Amino acid sequence: MQRITILGATGSIGVSTLDVLARHPDQYQVYALSAHSRVDELAAQCRQFRPQRAVVGSAEAALELTRLLAGLPVDVSYGEAALCEIAASDDTDTVMAAIVGAAGLAPTLAAARAGKKVLLANKEALVMSGQLFMDAVREQATLLPIDSEHNAIFQSLPAGYAREPGAAGVAKILLTASGGPFLNRAVETLEAVTPEEACKHPNWSMGRKISVDSATMMNKGLEVIEAHWLFGAAPERIEVVIHPQSVIHSMVSYVDGSVLAQLGNPDMRTPIAHALAYPDRIASGVAQLDLTQMAALQFYQPDYARFPCLALAFDALRAGGTAPALLNAANEIAVEAFLERRIGFRDIDRVLRRVMDENAHGAAGDIEAVMAQDARARQAARDIVAAIARA
Ligand code: NAD
Ligand code: MG
Repeated sequence: MQRITILGATGSIGVSTLDVLARHPDQYQVYALSAHSRVDELAAQCRQFRPQRAVVGSAEAALELTRLLAGLPVDVSYGEAALCEIAASDDTDTVMAAIVGAAGLAPTLAAARAGKKVLLANKEALVMSGQLFMDAVREQATLLPIDSEHNAIFQSLPAGYAREPGAAGVAKILLTASGGPFLNRAVETLEAVTPEEACKHPNWSMGRKISVDSATMMNKGLEVIEAHWLFGAAPERIEVVIHPQSVIHSMVSYVDGSVLAQLGNPDMRTPIAHALAYPDRIASGVAQLDLTQMAALQFYQPDYARFPCLALAFDALRAGGTAPALLNAANEIAVEAFLERRIGFRDIDRVLRRVMDENAHGAAGDIEAVMAQDARARQAARDIVAAIARA
């Protein structure tokens, strides 16, 4: 029996994870679940999966959950320290890190430091903490990527590669991107797009933050940084390829001319099942890919004028240190402001450009330095958002 903690159980990845687990009750047991504020949904999950512990975001939410679970033996708590406890507990083997944004960093790092098998969906945590996180993993943990692209790359690399970067004749990592909902929309009209339009992804159903990131292609930018850390790839060895059908989930090209790819229907239960069972395979509930039903597969170069956020992410990766943490924090603030209709869609990249230009970054020597940079960048982004929103 593998005992599992799911950080962010009520989110899109959390729900997909529980869907896979429910198919294999003989192999997996849920130890703990967390949610920020969706207490009703978490209560329903607790009734179905009977975890020992449940963690929410506030004292009020904890009281409400306790009331809803009256009679069930679930230990309810709240806050970051409790999230770190369920991530690092001796009673769990595997941690699905599926909180969105910087809020997931502390518990995900706690899981790595406790030597857990970490299934990483929360890309922002790795983007922020890069080397620090990978050092914690290298000491004793196992890290398996859930992001579909990185899971595809992992599957296309020789076993053990992630721990010995630069080896095995790898020439390039080809990171595919759908291009999101605005791939072909006239660039001038992007100023006026609504949160609803931005969240309507053509191929994937996801949480709102990552959906907006996909529309700006900041998601791909964060994934470039994620690939750099996961696979030890220098920026010039990571190539973004637009592939609107999202059938090929990413590729690795080798010095002998071989290109290995992983294909599948766009459903996150495939990478989730892969990581849960690795190195075995389990059924995920995803239909087999029917290649004969597929229209042509297309590939294009990305247009950096249409998607300036992608270029900003490469800049942050090359700058190093806390620059990616700065970019990530500013992006979280800008996306939230866009979703709340306080700024326009194109203001997102304007805010990020200004925060990057106007704020110094430094060495990412410890988590405190990363968190301080995160806090400064958030404040800088909030100030710029407030000025735009007033104008
Ligand atoms: P979501 O918004 O659907 O869910 C987020 C989860 O995090 C929820 O359970 C929520 O309760 C919890 N949460 C939110 N804010 C929190 C806070 N401040 N403290 C503690 N918990 C908090 O998001 P999602 O789409 O499931 O994405 C989760 C992560 O997985 C993100 O980092 C995203 O980039 C990554 N990811 C998602 C997909 C996808 O298909 N959805 C694909 C690849 C990677
Ligand atoms: Mg992805």
